[in-house]
Amino acid sequence: MTSATVERHDSAHSDTPILTLDDVGKSYGNVHALRGVSLNVRQGEVTCVLGDNGAGKSTLIKIISGLHEHTDGTMTLDGVECRFPSPRAAQASGIATVYQDLALAPLMSVWRNFFLGNEIHKGLFRTLDIARMKRICDEELAKMGIIIPDLDRPVGGLSGGQRQCIAIARAIYFGARVIILDEPTAALGVKQSGVVLRYIVKARDAGLGVIFITHNPHHAHLVGNHFVILKLGRVVLDAHRDELTLEQLTTEMAGGQELAELSHELRGVDPGKVVTPAEVEHGQVEAPARPQEEEPSA
Ligand code: ADP
Repeated sequence: MTSATVERHDSAHSDTPILTLDDVGKSYGNVHALRGVSLNVRQGEVTCVLGDNGAGKSTLIKIISGLHEHTDGTMTLDGVECRFPSPRAAQASGIATVYQDLALAPLMSVWRNFFLGNEIHKGLFRTLDIARMKRICDEELAKMGIIIPDLDRPVGGLSGGQRQCIAIARAIYFGARVIILDEPTAALGVKQSGVVLRYIVKARDAGLGVIFITHNPHHAHLVGNHFVILKLGRVVLDAHRDELTLEQLTTEMAGGQELAELSHELRGVDPGKVVTPAEVEHGQVEAPARPQEEEPSA
C-alpha cells in the first residue's frame, strides 16, 4: 500500500470538503454550458451528479479533470483555490477520471493497462520489471475483490464491468483522492452494473471522494451519499441522502414539475387505447391537435 493510501484512510470521512466548486460557470462563446454550479466533494463519500443530455455533466467533468478551464466562479482543492491547466495537472493533484469507453487500452494485457504510463523499471538498462508489476497488479485487484485468473489476457476480452473495476483499482493504487466516474454503468446490463456499483462503494471505503456521474437515479440511490441534479447547466437539486427518497430523486430526474404538467396535458389522450388499421383507414382516428405556440420569452 502506498503512503498516499495510508494518509487517505486517516483523513477519510472528514467533514471538510476535499474539492469545492463555488458558483462555477463555463461559457463556450455565447453558449453557457454551466452557470452558478456549487458542489462539495467529501472524502469517503459518493457524490452523485445526475442530469439528462445537455445538462452540463461532461463540461463539469472537463473542468474538474483539467481538460477545460472554468470561466466563472472558483474551484478549491483542500481549501486552496485551483485551476487545472491540463489533465496531467489534475492527476498530479490526485484527481483521477475514469471515462466510460476510454478507461483502458483493449489490446494490452491487464497488468500493462494497470501500469500504463507508470511502468516500473529495473537494473542498469531500465528494463520493465514485469514480474513485480504483475505481482502488484494481482495484489491490488485482489484487495478490491477483482478476480482475473490470467493477467496476460488482453483487457478487450473482459466484460465492461470488469474493465471499469480495473480502472477504479488503478486510480486508487496510484494515489487518487478524488475519482470521477463518467457514466460507468450506462452501457452495462443489470448484473455488470451491480459489479461496478460494488467497486464504487469500495472506492468510497478506501477514503476517496467519489464523483459518480449518471443519468440513472436507481444506480445513484444505491450508492450515493449526496445528490446533485443538473439541468441546462444549472443545479436544480442538491440534497443529502437523508433528505430525499428514491421516488423523489426519480421524479426530480424525470423533470418534476414539468412531468406533472405533461401528465395533466396527456390525461385526455387515452393512453391505453389501441388503434386498429381499420379505424385509421376509415378516418375514425382524430387528427392530433396542433400544439399551441409558446409565447416567446422576454
Ligand atoms: P451533458 O454531458 O450533460 O450531456 P454537456 O456538458 O456535454 O452536457 O453540454 C452542456 C451544454 O454545453 C450543451 O448545450 C452543449 O451543446 C454545450 N457544449 C458543450 N461543449 C461545448 C463546446 N465545446 N462548444 C460549444 N458548446 C458546448
